[in-house]
Amino acid sequence: MKTITVLGSTGSIGCSTVDLLCQVPDEVSVRCLVGGRNVRLLAEQARKVRAERAVIADDGALEELRGLLAGSGIEASAGRQAVIEAAAVPADWTMAAITGAAGLEPTLASIRNGRAVALANKEALVCAGDVMLRAVKAAGATLLPVDSEHNAIAQAMADRQADQVEKIILTASGGPFRCSTLEEMEKAPPSAALKHPTWTMGAKITIDSASMFNKGLEVIEAARLFDLTEDRIDVLVHPQSAVHGLVQYTDGSLIAQIGSADMRIPIAHCLAWPKRMPTTSPRLDLAALATLTFEAPDEVRFPALRLARQALRDGGAASDILSAANEIAVEAFLAGRIGFLDIARIVERVMECLGHPALETLEDVLHWDAEARREAGRLVVQRAAA
Ligand code: NDP
Repeated sequence: MKTITVLGSTGSIGCSTVDLLCQVPDEVSVRCLVGGRNVRLLAEQARKVRAERAVIADDGALEELRGLLAGSGIEASAGRQAVIEAAAVPADWTMAAITGAAGLEPTLASIRNGRAVALANKEALVCAGDVMLRAVKAAGATLLPVDSEHNAIAQAMADRQADQVEKIILTASGGPFRCSTLEEMEKAPPSAALKHPTWTMGAKITIDSASMFNKGLEVIEAARLFDLTEDRIDVLVHPQSAVHGLVQYTDGSLIAQIGSADMRIPIAHCLAWPKRMPTTSPRLDLAALATLTFEAPDEVRFPALRLARQALRDGGAASDILSAANEIAVEAFLAGRIGFLDIARIVERVMECLGHPALETLEDVLHWDAEARREAGRLVVQRAAA
């Protein structure tokens, strides 16, 4: 029996994870499920997987959660501290799928248990960088990449020597604005940016996919996970989302991982690791797909990639600042306060303003995260008033 905790169980990745757990009830024992606000879904999931404990981040939802779990024997708790405490309870395998920097401290708490942590919450690794990697090393934990591209790279690298790798290639669907003009993107409402052509995901990552900040965050994530400099991480736009990632070896061979655009595949890969488990995910019909296309990303319409590479080269708190400013700008765009192209403008201004101060400790991460949010918030107000 593998003990399991799912942080962010009520989200898109969380629901796919719970779905897979339900397929292997005799092999897993669920310690804890953590949600943000969706108390009804959390209680329903906790009953379904017979979790020991359900935790909701929203303090105000405790009574409702208790009511929904009455008679089940499942413990209920609420609030930010309860989330971190739940993550710190040892489990053999933890899914870290809370969106944004809010997932950082819970993810670090589970890493400190020294077991396997399946990392979906890329923002945590982007903002905390070395702080997180040092924690992984100190605890002897295993980070399993959930992001489909990084999971693909991990599969394509398998046990091969890192010094035989020339570079890696992350693919990107190109999002809903792949063929749009800058004028169209300037006026695009949130509803247009939320229409992802190939993946069904939470709102924040869907907007990040439309702006290509998602790919920018993934370049930073890949640099950290695979210990590569940014010049050895390429991005290719591949609208069919069939090839998820490729590794180019020093002999010129390219090894790719290919599969349907269904996150249950990389999640299952992490859940069964180091083995494999069967899934009911749709199988890719290559004959029906017939054509796979690839194109270079356009860094003029999508400046996010340039900014992410810049953050990696700058080092220090630059990635932390980029990610936090982006979170604030995405929230403001979704709330209709700024335009789509303002997201990258605001991130760039915040990066210019705060530079790349040193980042050594978790306190530094939290400090620069807060500074970037404050500066981005100020720019949002300015932009909204213009
Ligand atoms: P969702 O928005 O669908 O889900 C986010 C989850 O986090 C929900 O369970 C939400 O709870 C919870 N949550 C939000 N804020 C808090 C908080 N402060 N404390 C505790 N829980 C909180 O996002 P996704 O599932 O799409 O993405 C999750 C992460 O995985 C992101 O970092 C994303 O970049 C990454 N990822 C996602 C992919 C995808 O296909 N969706 C692919 C690759 C990576 P509630 O809903 O109850 O409020």
